[in-house]
Amino acid sequence: MNNALGPRMVHEHKQTLTKVAEEEGLSKLADLHPDGGRLTVAYHIYHQSGFGMRKDVKGVQRLNAEQVVTREPAFAAAHADGIIRGGQFAPMDSYGDCQTFTKALADVCETKYDVQFDYSVNVSKLEVDRSSKMKGVKLTDGQLLTADVYVLAAGADTPNLAITAGVHVPITGMRGYKLIAPAKKPPRSALVVKPYEIYVTPMKSEVRDEVHFAGFGEFAPSWDKEPTPELEDRLGNVLRVVFPNIDEMVDWNKRHVVFGRRPQTPDGEFVIGPTRVSGLYINSGHCSYGFRGAAHSAQLLANGLVNGFESNGVYQRFFTLARFQPLRPQWSQELNNPLNRPDLSELGKDRRGAS
Ligand SMILES: Cc1cc2nc3c(=O)[nH]c(=O)nc-3n(C[C@H](O)[C@H](O)[C@H](O)COP(=O)(O)OP(=O)(O)OC[C@H]3O[C@@H](n4cnc5c(N)ncnc54)[C@H](O)[C@@H]3O)c2cc1C
Repeated sequence: MNNALGPRMVHEHKQTLTKVAEEEGLSKLADLHPDGGRLTVAYHIYHQSGFGMRKDVKGVQRLNAEQVVTREPAFAAAHADGIIRGGQFAPMDSYGDCQTFTKALADVCETKYDVQFDYSVNVSKLEVDRSSKMKGVKLTDGQLLTADVYVLAAGADTPNLAITAGVHVPITGMRGYKLIAPAKKPPRSALVVKPYEIYVTPMKSEVRDEVHFAGFGEFAPSWDKEPTPELEDRLGNVLRVVFPNIDEMVDWNKRHVVFGRRPQTPDGEFVIGPTRVSGLYINSGHCSYGFRGAAHSAQLLANGLVNGFESNGVYQRFFTLARFQPLRPQWSQELNNPLNRPDLSELGKDRRGAS
């Protein structure tokens, strides 16, 4: 996370997502815990005040090993082995079930807002005319779809499609693995275990009662579609070290492992905005924060399309594709000002007529 944007941007991500969920009645269904908190725990030589642990952030509670176990009994066995150094609890952090949320949101979009989704199409190429203007989207069945505005949001595959329009987007797939097991005695909040970078999320919604354990970042080319079996095994082995009592937490024998590709940018920030091809916009590169940042990104994109991307203030400077050009644009003082961020309640409203 870029320090210049830091906790305030995370807060804005959460606020926008929570607002959408509340307005559309999805919070309970998707098991969203806006203030469910996150406990980060340091193992071995990692000291709680050391690298990777947030220091003295307002509202974050520092905990010693005993306090960690009091807050989260799942760490009792590791503490008995003497390997826990301490932790931090961030009550303002949040978690939820992104699959249930996105499916339910798609239903709302179809029924309430008349949005049409077509999950069956496969895009082969973006067609551009001689004046660098979007002509249409070519599908693998040969059809050409045309539109007023084209937004490319294809995750780790974004660069493969963008390059067909002559646009270079520096995103690469960073594969991550997740072990999912039915819950027996799930943790009380989301957990992070350092230095293993294991992210643990209890998921108890109307549709599931599981614990998800995510980890690893493996750079893999887009043609490599198969997961690495050694990493799948390693995730299980690491979890048994981190939680020697994991059989009490989950039904270990019913576990399964899934993998996905995080759309990783070189600086870890999103890409939201126009390209050099007229009519073609990008909303991608969300790295490890695609769920958390989805609603905020969509609103910044909508705001940019309606009011111009400069109206996104400092976010335009951080998220523009132009930041990756060899000769970067000169940023105006306004776009460099970290306080210049659009008010969340104003995002997307048509302000073109306002003085
Ligand atoms: C293990 C793991 C754990 C994670 N944990 C978190 C977390 O805790 N919090 C969080 O916020 N984020 C997390 N992330 C990151 C998050 O999953 C991503 O940032 C997010 O999925 C990116 O969303 P996206 O819509 O941009 O891309 P994707 O979800 O990858 O969607 C892209 C879509 O484009 C489609 N597509 C691509 N090419 C074409 C084509 N040619 N034609 C038609 N369709 C195409 C794909 O089929 C896909 O449906 C995690 C990721 C992983 C792998």
